[in-house]
Amino acid sequence: MSSGRRRSGIVHLVGAGPGDPGLITVRGAALLRRADVVICDALVPPDLLRPVRPGTEVIRVGTRGGARRLGQEAINRAMLARARRGLRVVRLKGGDPSLFGRGGEEGEALVRARVPFEVVPGVTAALGAAATTGIPLTHRRHASAVHFATGHVDPEKPADGVDWKALAGGGTVVLYMSVGNLGGTVGRLLAAGLGPETPAALVRWATRPEQRVLCGTLGTIAALARRAALRPPALLIAGDVVRLRGRLDWFGKRPLFGRTIVVTRARDQAAPFTAMLEESGARVLEAPAIALRPPRSWAPLDRALGRLDRYRLVVFTSVNGVVRFFGRLGERRIDLRTLQGLEIVAIGPGTAAALEERGLRVAALPAEFRAEGIVQVLGRRSLEGVGVLIPRAAAARDLLVRELRRRGARVDVVPVYRAVPAREGIGEVVRALRAGAIDLVTFASSSTVAHFVRKFRNAADGRRLRRVPAAVIGPITAETARREGFRVAVMPRAYTIPALAEAIVRRFRSSPSGTPRGS
Ligand code: SAH
Repeated sequence: MSSGRRRSGIVHLVGAGPGDPGLITVRGAALLRRADVVICDALVPPDLLRPVRPGTEVIRVGTRGGARRLGQEAINRAMLARARRGLRVVRLKGGDPSLFGRGGEEGEALVRARVPFEVVPGVTAALGAAATTGIPLTHRRHASAVHFATGHVDPEKPADGVDWKALAGGGTVVLYMSVGNLGGTVGRLLAAGLGPETPAALVRWATRPEQRVLCGTLGTIAALARRAALRPPALLIAGDVVRLRGRLDWFGKRPLFGRTIVVTRARDQAAPFTAMLEESGARVLEAPAIALRPPRSWAPLDRALGRLDRYRLVVFTSVNGVVRFFGRLGERRIDLRTLQGLEIVAIGPGTAAALEERGLRVAALPAEFRAEGIVQVLGRRSLEGVGVLIPRAAAARDLLVRELRRRGARVDVVPVYRAVPAREGIGEVVRALRAGAIDLVTFASSSTVAHFVRKFRNAADGRRLRRVPAAVIGPITAETARREGFRVAVMPRAYTIPALAEAIVRRFRSSPSGTPRGS
């Protein structure tokens, strides 16, 4: 421990929003990035914790499926103890902290203990559900009031703290925690005067890719929920506004909604691809085949940088190669102008864009080029004696090197990063495979296919994996995937990531799904 002046701790009671990680507030996300400790409700999906720095203590509390992990007293104690040690605690709660979330009680405990605190609101589940089901909670023609209440009432007690008559008096009714005792709560709404023909919807996991919506009436909804074996967390929305869903549902109509797609790219490279698929509604499981690390030694690159006059051509084969090459230049404080006079070639439009962002004009090749591709860019001129520098992964496919050497070039491949096997995300993929819930596995390079299949040590899982259709970036990857036993179902015409995402959307648009699988 440092002996410096003791920092005073603080607790931030932060609303996580309804579940989509994009729906936390800007302030909430900033606090997560700065937190020393995160105390998180069981209901908060793990992907909301992405902004948290590695190594931060994360404590999961609350109930999940009836199993209590840590009682309210224990939560308060954990929170206070850490704040008193001078730590910045984020108490992350589903939806908004003050709605059916004991945020008020936790605030009172903090006041009693004289621990400074802040409350950051969140999008409550009802508002999230309204957005992603296409059910506006008020509407000039249908409802000019909305009631939020808890459906978690004791069926044994006649008085349960909810004024059911007032709820039934007009406007939309939203009941939180309504699955456990749905028959009972619906019974109270009917007894209070709402008609059995009142339109009603149950919304599970609103705003998430696994969102599920059951629509019916107050008379039918309990039976529908039973038949669908609907589990919490879900909200009941009752009122005429439910009818608008037929026209306003944009979320469930997205082409990849209800589809689960595995992305095997390395974590640093997956983000744009994942975002494209998620925007079209897919549930994406990221299971990177490899992780990228710095090379074991920078000496070969440093040597090449000291002798740039020996080269006429520099070939970049990936965005990552560009980022790490220029990162090293920066670290060594080498001026960009030392590259003057070198011809720069990029493989793939993404690689080209990364170079152009740095102010360099380059010639680009398709991402999955064949030898003819090189001819296209370099022309038929002889490369006899020409020095070519290729900063790339330590071990990489050598079609390019072979072709250049065949034409007489002197090629130096210098490692600027190294690919190591990764295991992250595999557990979730295995669970989804066993549930038969995966629609597509994607491969953006030949080497990821080989690395990925090796992770499935259990033979039955390996067979399940190979039954999932594959989407590949181009013909070389397709060949490898077929050799590994996959059926290639999607391959774009242009060998790029955006084209791959579009091809996937097109393929599923022509075979729309019903409800999400495995929900
Ligand atoms: N503070 C939270 C509510 C906590 S009570 C908020 O403001 O949203 C927990 C209940 O919230 C669940 O039983 C369920 O009824 C509802 N809920 C939370 N997240 C939900 C979601 N994504 N979809 C549907 N209901 C949700």
